[in-house]
Amino acid sequence: MAYIQFLGAAGVVTGSKHLINTGSDTSGKRGLQVLIDCGLFQGQKEWRERNWQDTPVSANEIDAVILTHAHLDHSGWIPRLVKAGFQGPIYATPATIDLCGILLPDSGRLQEEDAEFYNKRKQSKHTPALPLYTFEEAQSCLRYFKPLEFDVAKQLSPELSFRYVRAAHILGSSMIEITLNTDGVARRLLFTGDIGRVRNHDVAPGKVVHSGPTEGEAADLVVMESTYGNRKHPTSDPRPELASLIKQTVQRGGSVIVPAFAVERTQKVLFLLKELMESGEIPRIPVYCDSPMAINAVEIYLKYSQEYSEDARILIQKYGSPLEWPAYTFASTPAESKKINASHFPSIIISSSGMATGGRILHHLAQRLPDAKNTVIFIGFQAPGTRGFTIKSGAQTVKIYGEEVPIRAQVAALEQFSDHADTPELLQWLHTFSTKPAVTYLVHGEPAAASELRNAMQKELGWNVQVAEWMQRVDVR
Ligand SMILES: [Zn+2]
Repeated sequence: MAYIQFLGAAGVVTGSKHLINTGSDTSGKRGLQVLIDCGLFQGQKEWRERNWQDTPVSANEIDAVILTHAHLDHSGWIPRLVKAGFQGPIYATPATIDLCGILLPDSGRLQEEDAEFYNKRKQSKHTPALPLYTFEEAQSCLRYFKPLEFDVAKQLSPELSFRYVRAAHILGSSMIEITLNTDGVARRLLFTGDIGRVRNHDVAPGKVVHSGPTEGEAADLVVMESTYGNRKHPTSDPRPELASLIKQTVQRGGSVIVPAFAVERTQKVLFLLKELMESGEIPRIPVYCDSPMAINAVEIYLKYSQEYSEDARILIQKYGSPLEWPAYTFASTPAESKKINASHFPSIIISSSGMATGGRILHHLAQRLPDAKNTVIFIGFQAPGTRGFTIKSGAQTVKIYGEEVPIRAQVAALEQFSDHADTPELLQWLHTFSTKPAVTYLVHGEPAAASELRNAMQKELGWNVQVAEWMQRVDVR
């Protein structure tokens, strides 16, 4: 019998990895084994340690990976899987492949830097810390990627075919509809990946793709995210609040630090700031986009502008490439990045990673957090256990580069930028289903969010919903 095993993002919001095994045939030959997503665990140490564990079936027996989108908590374990012997195809939409092409090598570089840092501080330890994978290893796994457009069916074996449908979460993001033909029965499985905003284009300027998640779904079994299963996003326009935070900071001579995912989210913020400057709502101060992939990220963003909401397309048409805007600096090299520290005039610094788990944002935070003149603005989800979560939740200090850094800067969060549907939006989308699934497993949520969403779905929709557990194996009946 076919089964699914939840290898990650069960009880937590990172490490998305779900194994489908189509079941052995009468001769005992194993079935097709496919991984849906292959994400990195991030946040608390006990979760990050799971990145060092092998998959329960050996990597070389996994036949294919099907990716929902490029975020590292869904794609960042691929180089490790390849290192462990995986040699199959990795399916993804073309935009996801472009994004992984810059994100995975960057992740490898960060892993190397972390190991190097650890080794420098613990010189007496005879076993050196090793990177989970290197820049080169990440780069070499890109050759396994195979593009697949939305709505095109791909047959992987006589039992299993799949197609991508839109998830409206980030550029290239998709849900995976799987048709499984086993034991003489055809079943439809739906893996949602991360689900984008369903409605309210006006109040969700972080929303990228023009359409919401695909409506009218029919599935026998659903594996669904629950990140915001117990939350409602504000529906106000974030622009006045953003403008006011920037103006206040500039008035007291401080700088604004925005931790942001390097691709798409960062560019959205750049366009928003440009618009606020052009309309005179914020002063024209220098804007630094600090990322080793800063220039490539802008190019990928502009390449896919046909995917975006009308508002976003109008902004691109009106203002052209951010690479050509005066007073906007794109720091690619480490030297350019460090140079920003020397700037003592008010400025806006946008850097990754978005949850401050690594990357150049760390040195900006280490430098600017102790000064009450500055402001840190979060515009994305902060997973528990990450530095972003610590700072956002009002802590007095945060550990960066092994030092406790005092947090005196103002800390603000604009939830309107979220790329995840909130609870009412999730329920609104589920109401469009044309059939009631036999069972739904909730993944990718903190325990409280997942259980509240389960209760809401049971009550409002009368669905059979279960919260998935890590390593749990469920039969596909
Ligand atoms: Zn995501």
